[in-house]
Amino acid sequence: MKVLSVEATIDIYMKRDILIPRGARSCSVHLTENFYVKDDQVDQIPIVSDSIELKNEKVKEILDGFKTRENQKSSLFN
Ligand SMILES: [Zn+2]
Repeated sequence: MKVLSVEATIDIYMKRDILIPRGARSCSVHLTENFYVKDDQVDQIPIVSDSIELKNEKVKEILDGFKTRENQKSSLFN
């Protein structure tokens, strides 16, 4: 089991509009070599709760994640 990175949870948020709690784990088998959740697996994530408490710290983490994602786009994603 791997703890999902902030970047991986942002990726899931972009694709499914769901927020993954910090420290959530996944079997390696569902992950890409960069430890992102595979596209076909993202669709399988069950919704556990439709409300989430967003603390300031978490919001900053998410925004930082978006920033990192933007910075990586040019080099990592085509
Ligand atoms: Zn599994």
